[in-house]
Amino acid sequence: MKELRDRIRDIPDFPKKGIIFKDITPLLADVSSFQKVVDIFAKRYANQSIDYVVGIESRGFIFGAATAYRLDAGFIPVRKPGKLPYETHRVDYELEYGTDSIEIHVDALHEGNRVVIIDDLLATGGTAGAACQLVQKAKATIVECGFVVELEFLKGREKLKGTPSFSLIQY
Ligand code: AMP
Repeated sequence: MKELRDRIRDIPDFPKKGIIFKDITPLLADVSSFQKVVDIFAKRYANQSIDYVVGIESRGFIFGAATAYRLDAGFIPVRKPGKLPYETHRVDYELEYGTDSIEIHVDALHEGNRVVIIDDLLATGGTAGAACQLVQKAKATIVECGFVVELEFLKGREKLKGTPSFSLIQY
């Protein structure tokens, strides 16, 4: 994991003051590191009969789509409001200041589908918690939420309310 950790760069005060942004672009650019992340996800979910990988906009698309390909599963995007062209379900969630929302197409998932939710990073858990609610609206089964990075001090897992979650690298 040191190889991966060494390729995650801290950018202080981005996108605003006080936030240390974990920049995963050096990891993506390194063939062995990117493959390692996708291999770990693919191996972990290989025998779990996954129908769909749900990727959270936007860095969740990168890891999620590659993992879906490896799992012979479909890929479903969860996106910021106004981006998905068809009818959507929407869930609002709390930010430090104000609220945000994410959406999924109403016909993307069906009862009984087995789903893995993937994003690059778990911080406060607001985004992933909202993604879980979107998947649950369709009565699909969340096998696990998978993250490359988890900022443990923000206790994001608590917002996932018992949904199993997994991260490769913790801070
Ligand atoms: P949260 O809803 O607080 O768990 O935030 C998770 C979402 O915001 C993920 O999609 C991350 O990509 C992004 N994010 C939050 N904090 C950071 C951070 N310190 N560095 C990079 N991305 C972050």
